[in-house]
Amino acid sequence: MKIAALAGGVGGAKLAHGLAQILPQKKLTIIVNTGDDFEYLGLSISPDLDTVCYTLAGLANPVTGWGRIDETWNTFDNIAKLGGQTWFRLGDRDLGTHLERTFRRKRGDKLSTITQDFCHAWSVKHRILPMTDEPVYTMVNTLEQGELPFQEYFVHQRCKPTVSGFRFDGVEKARPAPGVLEAINNADAVVFCPSNPWVSIDPILTVAGLRPACEAKPVVAVSPIIGGQALKGPAAKMYRELSIQPSALAVARHYADLLDGFVFDKVDSDSNLSIQEMNITTLLTNSIMEDMAGRRRLAKDVIDFVNTLL
Ligand code: GDP
Ligand code: CA
Repeated sequence: MKIAALAGGVGGAKLAHGLAQILPQKKLTIIVNTGDDFEYLGLSISPDLDTVCYTLAGLANPVTGWGRIDETWNTFDNIAKLGGQTWFRLGDRDLGTHLERTFRRKRGDKLSTITQDFCHAWSVKHRILPMTDEPVYTMVNTLEQGELPFQEYFVHQRCKPTVSGFRFDGVEKARPAPGVLEAINNADAVVFCPSNPWVSIDPILTVAGLRPACEAKPVVAVSPIIGGQALKGPAAKMYRELSIQPSALAVARHYADLLDGFVFDKVDSDSNLSIQEMNITTLLTNSIMEDMAGRRRLAKDVIDFVNTLL
């Protein structure tokens, strides 16, 4: 079975890692959000792509989920001493990635090509693709401060402003990166990893042609909301601020017509009937991925479930 998986950063990377343990190289393509990308200290940063690549490479920091294992912080300690900008901290090893990517982008290389080369260097076997090679910037509309660039909202202001909407700047001009449409068209099913629906999966679906391509396939989403809460990050807060009670049901409604199947946690079994009434087949399981075994277990549950839908 061939799967195209859509993913943001930390939550998406965990399931993608599990899927990569089960599916052979040719049977899995991971399509990653680039709406979080930004320029910082002159560097091109692609946080979600790096999180997915580092995770599959076994190089991710197991505590934070982002950044690298065995990291040191000499460069940023030095920048701090010089009075520079340090609200977004980058470790020494991680900086090597950003320096090389920035150098290659300035030279004219595409983000997808650079990602492919980095994955090769890190011995990542499965294909990881940015959703697009063109710049798309997620903008967060807030009640207090109007529109904020994503990382300004997410990292600098620690998601404190009240969200009133989102815009994906540049997405009208963005084309899917080479291989993205083919991966979806050739897949037996599309899996939406348990990533933030508003700012991780929606930007991918907004790129020209990707929502219709998904619509033509069996789609299974995994809920990032468990027991009304996000395990990490602002997904639940965003739902609340947009006047939607955060729940697995809210996530299913978010994707609604796109979904054929929905995987969510056993603690949310009271939503089961309402989701089934939307003509969506459901799988209730333990959806928390605490360790490598948990990633593999959830991935296997998802694959077995997809098989029952085909
Ligand atoms: P980001 O780009 O780093 O913010 O990460 P994502 O958008 O990919 O994922 C964020 C979401 O992952 C959050 O809403 C979390 O609730 C969810 N998440 C993190 N770990 C898990 C897990 O083990 N299981 C499930 N179901 N969701 C998770
Ligand atoms: Ca992200």
